[in-house]
Amino acid sequence: MALERTLSIIKPDAVAKDVIGQIYSRFENAGLKIIAARMAHLSREQAEQFYSVHKERPFFKALVDFMVSGPIMIQVLEGDNAIAKNRDLMGATDPQKADKGTIRADFADNIDANAVHGSDGPDTARAEIGFFFPGINLHSR
Ligand code: UDP
Repeated sequence: MALERTLSIIKPDAVAKDVIGQIYSRFENAGLKIIAARMAHLSREQAEQFYSVHKERPFFKALVDFMVSGPIMIQVLEGDNAIAKNRDLMGATDPQKADKGTIRADFADNIDANAVHGSDGPDTARAEIGFFFPGINLHSR
């Protein structure tokens, strides 16, 4: 199995619900180690840049509005198959379709406010970690 790093975000809805600790427990119980973390309140420019791959999509403005609506918690997770493992823990993008027991099924209200973000592949993981933790030497543990 490949030791990987992935970028995870606890979005404004879940931060407002005070479930950071519960979500962190799920990462830790699944063998994903939190090796970097910071809270941020994104500017519109940062949110637009982070989600620029979606800029032509109809939901782009609503997504940016939501991501700047309150503070977010950003972390780097490390572990075997961390990228897929985190996506499994998150559940489907639409919480109505997410499997029981996933983060989105348990904590998200709808597809616009769906509690968490997770990188979807090795290239995006590398780019997203660099976006939020630029020039920071991250340590495995
Ligand atoms: N999104 C949305 N409406 C849609 C599809 C996506 O609001 O119809 C938002 C949603 O917050 C999602 C984000 O855009 O998490 C990024 O979409 P993606 O398809 O990359 O889903 P994810 O990787 O987050 O599951």
